[in-house]
Parts: sequence; C-alpha cells; structure tokens
Amino acid sequence: MPRPFAAGDRVLLVDSRRRRHLVTLAEGGTFHTHAGVVDHGALLGHEEGIEVRTSRGARLVAVRPTLADYVLKMPRGAQVIYPKDLGPILMLADVFPGARVLESGVGSGALTATLLRAVGREGHVLGYEIRSDFADRARRNVEAFLGPDVPLGIEVRDTYEGIGAIDLDRILLDLPEPWRVVEHAAGALRPGGILLAYLPTIGQVSQLRDALAASPFGMAETVEILQRSWHVDRQSVRPDHRMVAHTGFLTHARLLQPG
Ligand code: SAH
Repeated sequence: MPRPFAAGDRVLLVDSRRRRHLVTLAEGGTFHTHAGVVDHGALLGHEEGIEVRTSRGARLVAVRPTLADYVLKMPRGAQVIYPKDLGPILMLADVFPGARVLESGVGSGALTATLLRAVGREGHVLGYEIRSDFADRARRNVEAFLGPDVPLGIEVRDTYEGIGAIDLDRILLDLPEPWRVVEHAAGALRPGGILLAYLPTIGQVSQLRDALAASPFGMAETVEILQRSWHVDRQSVRPDHRMVAHTGFLTHARLLQPG
C-alpha cells in the first residue's frame, strides 16, 4: 500500500558515506548537514526510497527507519541493547504474539519496543524500572516509534523486591544482579515459562547460573552473539577491519516442576 511521506513522519536520510540522520518531517522544515540543506518539502508527498539533493548537491536517500535504525538513533538515558542481540533475544526467549511478558529494567526502551512488536496487540509488556526519569524516557521513545496505542504498562519499582504479577509467559532481565530476581521469577512465571537475562560480564553470568542451578529453573544455556560485517566494494570483498567485539551474554532457562 502506498504511504507517501507526511508531516510528523520520521525519515532516515542516508548519505553516500552511509552516515544516517533521523529527521522528523514538518511543513516548511529544513534539515541541515555539513553537506548542505534539504527542504522537507522535497520529501513530503513522495514515497520511500526517493533520492534528494542538498543545497550543495550532495545526494541523500530517504527511507522510513526500521526498528533497528530507530534504536540506534533514539534519545538514551541508559545504554540500550543493540539490534545484534535484540533479534536473538526474541528467539531464545521464544516471545510470541499474545505473550504476557515482564521486562526489567526498562532503561531507554529498546528491548521494550522490540518486545511490543513481537507480542502484538493481544499481548502485554509489563516493565519495571527503578528510575522514573528512565521510565518516562522509555515510554516516550516507544510511543514515538510504535504510537501511543501499545499494550505497555511501566511501573517505577525495584524488581529485587518482588514481582506483583503471576502466570507470566516470559521474563526478560537487563539489570545488574538478576540472581536476586530468580526466586521472584519462579513465583511469577507459569510452568514452562522462560527467564532470559542480558549481562555484560561473565562473573555476573556465573552468579546467575549458580542461582538458577539452585532453583526450579532448568535447561539453562548461555550464549554470546558475534556479528562481523563485511566490506563489499567490487573486487575488494573482505571482513570489515573493525567490529563490536563485545556487548553482553544471553542466559536463558525454563521454569520446570519441582521434584
Ligand atoms: N534493556 C534496556 C536498557 C536497560 S539498562 C534497553 O534496551 O533500552 C538497565 C536498567 O535497569 C536501568 O534503566 C536501571 O535504572 C534499571 N535497574 C537497575 N536496577 C533495577 C532494579 N533493581 N529494579 C528495576 N530496574 C532496575
């Protein structure tokens, strides 16, 4: 279905050196880069994929941002989980349409937006975040991309103190001491439910795995995702010289029956 650019839309402008700029279109608006100025009027009413020129003749391609583009550009309070890990998280935690999910901490809302897309309108994401400024920022970020009509409830609270929900399908944790949540999670998930934690250091992973081993959770696994991008320019085809060597480890486990 055609969906031409309209005022209020977010547009990703990509230059010939693959630099990306996220712009919100407005009637009469202008966008300034070091390579010149683009009038928003050159985009309004056109379909995605259009090429425009700046006042100094530089070419820019205009498309709507993907969720991955948006996550990398959106305003941050806390550090976000990167797209490299967001995709595998959905698969490892088996997040499905209609799922009831608890997420903590909410941070900047990158994982929140990813989960909301995966659970769909019939699902629900409950977010616990200890800092009210981060909770507000996350809601703004999520609504700016997905709209205000999302099945999201964010509560400002300390997840280490307990979980005020039961029969959850999935619990996703991105906070420093997830081992302090294992017992609460065992009471809040339904049998067979999945707990997944994102952790930057391996000492934290050990501590979490010990707590899981002493709990009703089983089938625990820890993985890291390595993503190596390639430089492709005619005959010169090789891995890029630089890569992001480390983000975090993903540990997941399932709630089993006692005994
Ligand atoms: N996954 C998020 C980033 C989370 S950063 C994203 O993708 O955007 C970690 C967050 O956990 C921070 O916002 C921090 O305030 C929050 N946090 C730390 N300890 C917490 C606790 N005990 N209860 C709830 N939130 C907590």
